[in-house]
Amino acid sequence: MRTIIEPFRIKSVEPIAMSSVEQRERWLAEAGYNLFKLPADRVLIDLLTDSGTSAMSAAQWSAVMAGDESYAGARSWFRFEEAVHEVFGFPFVIPTHQGRAAERILFGCTVKPGDVVPNNAHFDTTRANIEYLGGVAVDLPCPAAADPSTDEPFKGDLDIDALAALLEEQGERVPLVMVTVTNNTGGGQPVSMANIRAISELAHRHGKPFYIDACRFAENAWFIKTREPGYADVGVPDIVAEMFGYADGATMSAKKDALVNIGGFLCTRDPSLAEKERNLLILTEGFTTYGGLAGRDLEAIAVGLREVLAEDYLRYRIVSTAYVVDHLHAAGVPVLRPAGGHAVYLDAGRFLPHVPALQYPGQSLSVELYRHAGIRGVEIGTVMAGRDPVSGAERPARLELVRLAIPRRVYTQSHMDYVVEAVVEVFTRRQSLSGYRITAEPPFLRHFSASFEPLEAVLAAPK
Ligand SMILES: *Cc1c(COP(=O)(O)O)cnc(C)c1O
Repeated sequence: MRTIIEPFRIKSVEPIAMSSVEQRERWLAEAGYNLFKLPADRVLIDLLTDSGTSAMSAAQWSAVMAGDESYAGARSWFRFEEAVHEVFGFPFVIPTHQGRAAERILFGCTVKPGDVVPNNAHFDTTRANIEYLGGVAVDLPCPAAADPSTDEPFKGDLDIDALAALLEEQGERVPLVMVTVTNNTGGGQPVSMANIRAISELAHRHGKPFYIDACRFAENAWFIKTREPGYADVGVPDIVAEMFGYADGATMSAKKDALVNIGGFLCTRDPSLAEKERNLLILTEGFTTYGGLAGRDLEAIAVGLREVLAEDYLRYRIVSTAYVVDHLHAAGVPVLRPAGGHAVYLDAGRFLPHVPALQYPGQSLSVELYRHAGIRGVEIGTVMAGRDPVSGAERPARLELVRLAIPRRVYTQSHMDYVVEAVVEVFTRRQSLSGYRITAEPPFLRHFSASFEPLEAVLAAPK
């Protein structure tokens, strides 16, 4: 069969409240044309993020009921710890309420002012936690990552030559080397096993620990299985074991590939570091056997970490993202290629070439997708990254993107068909979209709360 079906059936549903274009126009004006300020029940298809938005399985919900809420040494902790050992193979596991807490604790124990932490591309909380401690977060993406239109299989790879040069020139300032799988900031693109192996060897030759930001580890393993020579017949759990076998530790947001709504953890092989990390954990997160999570959360993570390795799930997951990208590409819509794991990225710069960067083409496109079809994506462009936090100056971002992140096991193919149809319809009358002006803006992270106003249509009707 060519059709790949959702490998689940639905036993509990959450209604979507339908709305009209007129209602959404009113709601947009009320929200200052900022999609973050919309109440979620005014959204038809919510593609704001894949983080914490997964649908849990019946097995996870029954594990929730079995949660042991004892303060110390709960049954749920031992089940969680065993699942993390089994999947990742690290001897020490520290539970945290989400990924950024794991980052804060890891860097709090390892980074001092002036230190440099390389990564293929730091996620924004990873970068912020390093910078908060006075460190420098350096992105070393491979050269292929710079071209959004080529189909290379592992555009998430780290640039090994650049890492070698960095370790050569300022190795004494590097406390650890990281790689993020898949590369979220770089479009959800995967990292190859060959690259993970090479980073590990290079880091260890310089005596540096090697960490994996593991948020989308299962999606990355599936890309290795299907794209990297020699892995087609290797099981996903074995691929995961090999990936993490090269590493000295990992940070994880369970809100991604553990298929839960909250949670995270930190792993290491170093007993004395684990001791320091546990001391910090107790200070701000909670006791070492729950780390800010309820017993029921630990149970749901333990089940999710095993479920996410199922090949039927991963095939469906990666194929459904590629389905949207392929259909949009075939219709001529500019999208980042090849498809990544968790999201579709519309290239708003090429979609709306008549809207200048400082009139926010990504904002214009994301607002129009909501107005037209009730779809909520997120601008990743000049609104998000255009304000220099130090000088206060505004400058265009490198790329103007709209990210449509796909929650796990939440939407069906007909929802995705609706998304494709909506984007293509907006594309056919793209000339009529105008830019935006910011009417109010906070000093930091302006994309979350700024207000906007649409400018007049800049071009007349299409030719
Ligand atoms: C989401 C994410 C994080 C942070 O995790 P939270 O659970 O949101 O705190 C870190 N790294 C990557 C790559 C992520 O996608």
